[in-house]
Order: sequence, then C-alpha cells, then structure tokens
Amino acid sequence: MRAGPRSEELYEEACLLMPAGVNSPVRAFRSVGGTPIFYDSASGCRFTDADGRSFIDYVCSWGPLILGHAHPAVVEAVASTAARGLSFGAPCEQEIELARLIIDAVPHLEMLRFVSSGTEAVMSAVRLARGVTGRDEVLKFDGCYHGHADHLLVSAGSGLATFGNPSSAGVPASFAAHTLVLPLADEKALEKLFKERGDSMAAVLMEGIPANSGLLIQRPGYLRKLRELCTRHGVLLIFDEVISGFRLGAGGASELWGIDPDLSTYGKIIGGGLPVGAYGGRRELMEQLAPLGPVYQAGTLSGNPVAMAAGIATLQQLLADRGAAWQQLESRAGRLAQGIEAAFSSAELPFSVVRAGSILWLCLQEGEPPRRFDRISQDSARRYAILHEALLEERIYLAPSAYEVMFVSTAHDEAAIEESIRAFEQALGRVGREMLG
Ligand SMILES: *Cc1c(COP(=O)(O)O)cnc(C)c1O
Repeated sequence: MRAGPRSEELYEEACLLMPAGVNSPVRAFRSVGGTPIFYDSASGCRFTDADGRSFIDYVCSWGPLILGHAHPAVVEAVASTAARGLSFGAPCEQEIELARLIIDAVPHLEMLRFVSSGTEAVMSAVRLARGVTGRDEVLKFDGCYHGHADHLLVSAGSGLATFGNPSSAGVPASFAAHTLVLPLADEKALEKLFKERGDSMAAVLMEGIPANSGLLIQRPGYLRKLRELCTRHGVLLIFDEVISGFRLGAGGASELWGIDPDLSTYGKIIGGGLPVGAYGGRRELMEQLAPLGPVYQAGTLSGNPVAMAAGIATLQQLLADRGAAWQQLESRAGRLAQGIEAAFSSAELPFSVVRAGSILWLCLQEGEPPRRFDRISQDSARRYAILHEALLEERIYLAPSAYEVMFVSTAHDEAAIEESIRAFEQALGRVGREMLG
C-alpha cells in the first residue's frame, strides 16, 4: 500500500477543492498510479507523512532543499527576519546581500533582478532578450523545461518542422509560432537552423544540465558550438540554471562547461525553500530593464525579505569552508549511484544511473543513456511505476514520475545513503522480474 488512510482521506477532500487535489500536476501521482502521500512535517533528509510514517526523501521539494528539510540555519534566518516584517515592497538590505552572494559566485554575472519563481525568471529573461535584440524568435530544446510561460509550453513539431506546437491547451498557436524547437545533442540540426533563422532569433534557451526529462547530459563540444553560433548571429544565449544553479558548485553549469551565457536564470536553491527566482547577466543588458530602459518587468513580492533571508542562509552554508558541502554531496551521491547500479546488476537488470553531482536519474533502459528526449524508452515509465511503489514500501520516496530526477541533499548522511541502497536491493529483489517483463 502506498498512501496511508489519512492521506487517502485528505486527498478525497483536496480533490473537491483543487483540481486533482494538487497545486502542481506531477504531485498527483498520475504517472505512477495511486494516491499522493501527504507530508506532515520534515527534517533533514526525512519526512513524516499524514499517517505518521517516516520516509527518506529524494524529491527535496524538487531541488531547492540542497541542505535538506528545515535546516536550522535557514529556519532561524527565516524566523528572525519574519519577526521584523514579512514584506516591504521597498528596497531592503537582504536583497543586496543575496545579489552579492550570487554575483560573486558566478563570474559572468554583473547584475541581477529578483522575481518570485523560476517561471517568472525565464519569462522575464526572454522578454529582455527580445527587447534588446528587437527580434521575436526563441529557440528551445525538446525535453527541456523552462516553466509554464505560454510561449515556452511548446514541443517539437512533427517531422522536420522546427516551429513548435503548443503543448498545452490555452496557448495560441500564434504564440508558439515564435518558438523554435530542436532535439538536443544534434549539432547538424543546430547549424542548419542557425543558417536559416539565426538572424531572426532573439535568444536560445538551454538548461545548464537538462534535468527535467531524465538527465540528458550534453557533450561540451556541442554546447561550445551553440555558444559560437549565438555569438556569430547576435543571438543571446540564456542558460536556465533554475535547477543547476548552486547545485553542482558555486558557478553552476556555466562554470562546469566553461561557457559564459549572456543571461542566466535562477530559482529553486537560491530561495532555500521559499519562492524566489532571479535573472541576470551583463550590466549593459540588465540596464535595459525598467526604470532604466524600455523593457518592463515588476513584482509586488519581488526581493521579499524573508525569502531573501532563506536564500542567503542557504548559500552561506554551501559556500562555507570553500564549498566543502559540494564535495560532500559529490561523494554521497556517487556512493548512492554506485550502490543502486550494483543493485540493478545483482537483480540482473540492464539499467543504469545517470548522475551530475547530486542529481541522479534512474535510466530504466538498456544501453548508453540517452542525450535527447525522444531516445527515452517508452517502457521506462511502466518500469518506474513498479519500482516507485516497491520503494515506497521500503520507505524511500522518489518523485512520482519516471522523467524526474532524484536530489541528494547535505542532510543525506552516510547512514541514510546505505539505508537507501539496501532498500533498492530489497525492492529490486521483489519486483525486478516484473519490471523487465
Ligand atoms: C523548475 C524549473 C523552472 C520553473 O521554476 P518554477 O519555480 O517552478 O516556476 C524553470 N526552469 C527549470 C530548468 C526548472 O527546473
């Protein structure tokens, strides 16, 4: 059994009040089946559900909680800041402090603006790129997620068409028509598109580490080619670092690849569990924003002091001891990946674990892990649903979708990692055959 009786009861009530009982679709467990588990409280790498059962959490609020749940330094910063005012709608010192931490950590950033979500950050960065270049078209890649802004809810067209189709009802085809979509990892397609449309493109959006449809790690040469083409055609390269920012190290994916984008977007970790997003880049670009320039963007709660405080406390913990936290994450996540792969082998399953730092993806198919979305096997979702349920019985909580990754936090200590590996061994021993079948 997945959800306990209290979760079942809460879910029934939630469904009367909110569509599918949730405020973000993947939470509804539709792709793994069953009833969502209601969280009651959480601390470190574990949470307690509404039925009083404890689980090791590998969702960690979908990435923000790199220090685990309710880290004492973050909770203390939030509480003491909240006591001095919840929102000002006017400048406050915390904004400077968080901006300074981010800008000092990321060499290509000179200025930032804070917003309240990753979606908003990307939406605003694209508007800025269009405003600066005077061009309308934007290129994104199939399988990358950049939030739910209308013109980015677009998937690859059929056949060779590069013009996107709306991937959600309610998105006018005329909006999607400004969005071009290519598969990842295809240098020839990239060159061809730039040749045809490079001079009418405002921006290319690339996830620093594509981690929203499995973990589709790109080759550095491909990313360098992208940078080169953007420069040649006057197209702004936007790295969407909403997941990768401060996840892999202080400088995010741009540091990892040694590539300077023109603009970057942030969210998740920089808010430490509270709603924050940010976008930034070179001074001359950012100074095109209102009130200095013609590109409008605003927010009632932007730079909220409590959210800033959570971000500051989180980044301070990460940056302490010259980034020791990331080294610890690397070794814990490495051990977990290796333990899970060993469990796959002893259950005679031809699966692998794809890993970038503390991001893991269970690649439930044979052979070389895919680098593009359309190479993810259709079978993997069915296999994942079986494994997901078996792991819940072992009190391990993974994201309720095969396309989502696992996040390891600094609170996942050695004991929790070893416990998780044993849980995978148990679960796979029980359902391994069924997954293959
Ligand atoms: C999560 C995510 C977003 C959207 O952020 P929200 O805060 O959910 O709006 C955008 N881009 C990437 C790469 C993400 O992972």
